[in-house]
Amino acid sequence: TAALAITGLQKTYSNSFTALKGIDLTVQPGDFFALLGPNGAGKSTTIGIISSLVKKTAGQVSIFGCDIDTQFSAAKQHLGLVPQEFNFHMFEKVSDIVINQAGYYGIPKTQATRRTQELLQQLELWDKRDTPARMLSGGMKRRLMIARALVHEPKLLVLDEPTAGVDIELRRSMWEFLQHINQAGTTIILTTHYLEEAEQLCRNIAIINNGNIIENTNTKELLKRL
Ligand code: ADP
Ligand code: ADP
Repeated sequence: TAALAITGLQKTYSNSFTALKGIDLTVQPGDFFALLGPNGAGKSTTIGIISSLVKKTAGQVSIFGCDIDTQFSAAKQHLGLVPQEFNFHMFEKVSDIVINQAGYYGIPKTQATRRTQELLQQLELWDKRDTPARMLSGGMKRRLMIARALVHEPKLLVLDEPTAGVDIELRRSMWEFLQHINQAGTTIILTTHYLEEAEQLCRNIAIINNGNIIENTNTKELLKRL
């Protein structure tokens, strides 16, 4: 089964604007996949639908074989989501933010504590575990978003513009971390409007423009043609 299978996906917002015009997309397990496109192309809308935050107009989406409508909780279990905006409680402590997320997935406390420590160490946030989130730098907040998304060990990690507004040095260390977890078996999909990010990191790239997928190929093939 595919890590992500999208067929005939359409989205028309309530103002009658059609942001997705019927897209098909398949991402294989283990892949590192980029959804590349300019601002306004439909990337966030696609991510929103995959993560059930945006209601689709038509089409089907499944995550590791679980339909997001009919097998909602199983699909959710497979998915880790890193949205663009920081959406944790700014007054909460770093470690609590990750542990509480584990609670939503019903992970037992001792396991949640162990997993939180492991993730905060890997993401170089362990020294900040007792710090309220609002005191963190932008890059640290971004890493906290990633730690939280991984707490339930999802098979698929989806990141919406993970390095937007992140400086070049930190961007490289984030790329390394993502490569590391991809090599350890996590399928990764990210959206980006930087070709460089897609080509450095991703094995396969789909290009979205005006709500249509206009290219879907492996990175080497795409670079030959550009
Ligand atoms: P839906 O059609 O899925 O119900 P809505 O049209 O109700 O979505 O919009 C949801 C939210 O997105 C609203 O708060 C709205 O103000 C905001 N929104 C509206 N237009 C845009 C836009 N062009 N880009 C981003 N957000 C928008
Ligand atoms: P991207 O992530 O590629 O920048 P989006 O998926 O955010 O693109 O937006 C795709 C298109 O849909 C844009 O033209 C945007 O203005 C529009 N849009 C996004 N959200 C809404 C909304 N809630 N209501 C109406 N239009 C929206």
